Amino acid sequence: MGKIVSRFAPSPTGYLHIGGARTALFSWLLARSQGGEFRLRVEDTDRERSTQEATDAIIDSMKWLGLVHDDEIVFQSTRVDRHNEVIDQLVEAGHAYYCDCSKEQVDAMREKAQKEGRKPKYDGSCREKGLATGVVRFKTPLQGTTAFKDTVKGSIAVENAEMDDMILRRSDGSPTYNLAVVVDDHDMGITSVLRGDDHVNNTPRQILIYRAMGWDVPEFGHVPMILGPDKKKLSKRHGALSVMEYEKMGYLPEAVVNYLARLGWSHGDQELFSMDEMVTFFSTDNLGNSPSVFDLTKFEWVNGQYMQKADPERLADMLCDFYAREVGVEEAKSVTREDFARIAPLLQPRAKSIVDMLEQSQPFIVDAGFLPYDENAVKKFLTDETKPLLEEIVGRIEALDEFSEQSLEDVHRQFLEDKDIKFKAIAQPIRVAIVGTTKSPGLFETMMVLGKEQTLARLKRAVEL
Ligand code: GLU
Repeated sequence: MGKIVSRFAPSPTGYLHIGGARTALFSWLLARSQGGEFRLRVEDTDRERSTQEATDAIIDSMKWLGLVHDDEIVFQSTRVDRHNEVIDQLVEAGHAYYCDCSKEQVDAMREKAQKEGRKPKYDGSCREKGLATGVVRFKTPLQGTTAFKDTVKGSIAVENAEMDDMILRRSDGSPTYNLAVVVDDHDMGITSVLRGDDHVNNTPRQILIYRAMGWDVPEFGHVPMILGPDKKKLSKRHGALSVMEYEKMGYLPEAVVNYLARLGWSHGDQELFSMDEMVTFFSTDNLGNSPSVFDLTKFEWVNGQYMQKADPERLADMLCDFYAREVGVEEAKSVTREDFARIAPLLQPRAKSIVDMLEQSQPFIVDAGFLPYDENAVKKFLTDETKPLLEEIVGRIEALDEFSEQSLEDVHRQFLEDKDIKFKAIAQPIRVAIVGTTKSPGLFETMMVLGKEQTLARLKRAVEL
């Protein structure tokens, strides 16, 4: 078997959304898993609906996900002459013909067919007229079936009589999708088409064009769509945002790729895959044939898993970047990369995303005097009984020669013993004092990240509140 060449062929009419990204990922995996090539073709022939912004967004999203394509990007709009050349060849060879029927006439034919219980379609009345103007239609064989083995759905066969004489070139001279996609896939040497199953009805039509041209037919696979948790077509209200919105939400690209892969593909019970593992294990045999359900909670969980494993240095870089986006480059300079590098290991076991982590970093990046407090927590835990305890703790911490997790633990243990109280009596008051809320990682780790000076300043401020 020769080398596999797969492709992703988005229409740049909007951002790359979750569904499109998953299709791209599967095609990419198909090529990479077999040492093949993965090509990108931007199907920008619809000049009204295609935008440069969408094209850029698709390219950026693919880059962010790490779905690197081989060779140059092909822009379909640059290939119209070639599409027309093929259309002319099909006419010349008798596989296509001009038709000058008006829209009204075609509508009437369809209606008539429907009334007679037949499939509504163009009746082929211009087939043998030998016209030289009008739209160009494909001469669909009247008999036989067109069958193919879908790599995801299994065998599919359609009666040729069921298919219309599709238009290859519109009256304005523009080639249609089915024609252009075949010519481009052929010219780009595509051997494997993997795409959404909204295209499954186009495939037999495309195969007819391949055959008429005497070209090799690639293998086709159609992946089922993604549904929302309510089993309806995935849409914005399900959180089905564009890929780059997940970037903005502080998701890690490898987590997005992992989650997308599991929407329709499986390898045993494994949930978490590195890119390399996916490339090793991927096969279209393990692509599911029923729609997958988008689950934001699981997506969040997967991202959390990657956050936990991520290199804190990388998280620090990302935190810097996100902080600058949030407050502006100038203001962001008040917090150093080193600050974030200290904070990241403390927060990464619990952070759902970079944005979440940045939010949790807030108490750590402000000076003691600016620490915001949760009012209810202050009322409940910074009381006349607890403040004297905190004051005493300040003294004991100040007296420490060495500020370490161990010495902090020792000093607090001794304090509890001396006072004959439980840790519970001081844990939340200390927490509220040093981070302003009742939630934080372990107290002593938190103090370590804050450092001695900030820890003391915060405890003192709390006593004076
Ligand atoms: N441009 C088409 C679309 O975005 C995809 C064509 C194909 O994959 O064959 O739906």
